Amino acid sequence: MVSGVAKITGHATQRQALVQLARDERLPSSLLFSGIPGTGKRLVALELAAQLLCLERPFGPQGGCGSCRACALLRSGNHPDLHTLAFGENGATVDDLREALEKLSLKPFMGGRKVAVLNDADNISIVGANILLKSLEEPRPETFYILVAANTSRLPATILSRCQRWFFDRLSVPEVQEILAERGAVAITESAAALTDGSLLDIDSLGERAELWDDVRSTLEAAYRGDVSKVGKAAQAWGSDKSGLRARLDVLRSAIRQNLLSSAHDRSAAAVWAHALQNALDTEYLALDRHVNPTLVLLQLLDSCSAAHVQRYQSTPNSATTILQRLQD
Ligand SMILES: [Zn+2]
Repeated sequence: MVSGVAKITGHATQRQALVQLARDERLPSSLLFSGIPGTGKRLVALELAAQLLCLERPFGPQGGCGSCRACALLRSGNHPDLHTLAFGENGATVDDLREALEKLSLKPFMGGRKVAVLNDADNISIVGANILLKSLEEPRPETFYILVAANTSRLPATILSRCQRWFFDRLSVPEVQEILAERGAVAITESAAALTDGSLLDIDSLGERAELWDDVRSTLEAAYRGDVSKVGKAAQAWGSDKSGLRARLDVLRSAIRQNLLSSAHDRSAAAVWAHALQNALDTEYLALDRHVNPTLVLLQLLDSCSAAHVQRYQSTPNSATTILQRLQD
């Protein structure tokens, strides 16, 4: 399958539905792609843009044909009818937006369509949002706006109401493994892929965190069994390593989250890990923001992972089922 944009892993349902809408000429002019960062929403937006701008019809299964003049221009990043802006830190200004919208209001140079991909749209300023709204309200025919955002609650209701919304979920562990393997990260284990929590945002520190993974996993198992001696030693060692504390807590949270997800069939184990996940968030806050003795808070966290405490947790309002549901939503 030839494509003018990067290969995409995951999100098959949304991508197929988008192609179908485009093929049937039923694609709305304004779309909003949302979901946690690092899952490839922007790539899907660029793939759709390539489909819309490709000169070869009918549409291929993914992206453009890869060989026409439009696809060649897309690949080199010079297609005159594609406008991409990013509103993150040091991103596009209101003037940049105004300029892009002005160009979008002109006639297409080739193929008869124009596309705007507005990344990190939830960071757009109020002034910017108002300017954008005018364009969304009066779209020119064959002009498409694709907004990409992690936190849609930061977008004004007026913008939200103009856009058809598409949600993109976390990547699955096999999908993350596939992407990492393609990037040349050889021998990526399932555990290391699980560490990403379905997002490739913090991928650069994955190697460092993968080294901590086995240690953290075996300590959590010991804690679950109630092995006080191993738990005490780990808390001491981790608590005294100030520079590695943030990474360690990050891995701890991912490992506890994985334990929770994989114990969905076992109510009492799920109760323990759901409670531990809550505690892990408190631990991060206490140890990193409030500078409470890290060894003590780690000890408390690991102690709370003991299966023996299960009775106590099952009677607390943060029941495992509630948290599991929240994780799966
Ligand atoms: Zn093409």
